[in-house]
Amino acid sequence: MSNWEKNIRKVVPYVPGEQPKILDVIKLNTNENPYPPAPEVEKILKEFNVDSLRLYPDPTVSDLVKAIAEFYGLNENQVFTGVGSDDVLAMIFMTFFNSDKPIIFPDITYSFYDVWADMLRIPYETVPLDENFRIDARKYYGENGGVIFPNPNAPTGELLSLEVVEDIIKNNPDVIVVVDEAYIDFGGESALPLIDKYDNLIVVQTFSKSRSLAGSRVGYAMANPVLIKYLNDVKYSFNSYTMDRLTIEVAAAAVKNREYFEETTRKVIKTREWTKNELSKLGFEFGDSKSNFIFARHPEMSGQKLFEELKNEKVFVRHFSKPERISDYLRISIGTDQQMETLISVLGRILCLKSI
Ligand SMILES: *Cc1c(COP(=O)(O)O)cnc(C)c1O
Repeated sequence: MSNWEKNIRKVVPYVPGEQPKILDVIKLNTNENPYPPAPEVEKILKEFNVDSLRLYPDPTVSDLVKAIAEFYGLNENQVFTGVGSDDVLAMIFMTFFNSDKPIIFPDITYSFYDVWADMLRIPYETVPLDENFRIDARKYYGENGGVIFPNPNAPTGELLSLEVVEDIIKNNPDVIVVVDEAYIDFGGESALPLIDKYDNLIVVQTFSKSRSLAGSRVGYAMANPVLIKYLNDVKYSFNSYTMDRLTIEVAAAAVKNREYFEETTRKVIKTREWTKNELSKLGFEFGDSKSNFIFARHPEMSGQKLFEELKNEKVFVRHFSKPERISDYLRISIGTDQQMETLISVLGRILCLKSI
């Protein structure tokens, strides 16, 4: 082994869902939105001033910050933006999780949390979900170095009520509590109104799911101005021009179209409920997801087998072989009505062939 080896920051990277190169697949594996971005986005792209790309983008991202603040009725100093909420969350880990005590998050959750903690040498402990894959709030009341959880949780889709979220915040007054609301627009109640009441709360959201802009990479955090200031200090110490000019314009235009956002999220919710109904007819078991995916298992076929059979039929879903406890589950993103009808008929065929 070379001497320089021992000084390398070795990490086990996060594994994103597959992005197949072929286009004729039904892609239900990374929780993207099946509908296009708001129509204003196309207009921006067509009319974009190419010459402006000579210049660095606005490091304060003020057009987008302003648009987000207006959408939620906040002040601009309560909003922080980043290149996807992954970027925002990584900055949050760096800025706020510097205690000797472990940060805590659920044992089954977004699989990027332990990757950031390992990479940044942040001690952490995981808190087991209960037997129904739900977060047990009381287990988050002990001493710790910080708290983070998604609401609804991923990949389970289970939602905590605002009351329970507030209990977790209230019982952790000495550390930062981060609520990762990547899926909140699909039927949950956001913790956003609590940022004025609790100075230790950060709410994180993304344009990737409910705003159909996963390809543009836009995420944001909302908190009191003191926390936002600390977050910006770290961002400017790392990379001050994170978001490019085109993305700033695109995202600012998209967020202004409230009606389109509400219409498309309503459609996804409606399709999700239809899919739940059809999946139960096929014998699948799943919780009451309030996200844009369903986390389901079938008592008669392993998760791995179902995943592979679906892939053979060009239907991509997500399967996690670890931990063991979820290895029989599939995480199925909600697509268009037509995509979900195909999924259901393919599943019906797979399960039927198996029984003869
Ligand atoms: C999708 C997702 C994110 C990250 O989304 P970005 O595309 O980086 O904005 C963060 N947290 C959870 C729980 C997610 O599912």
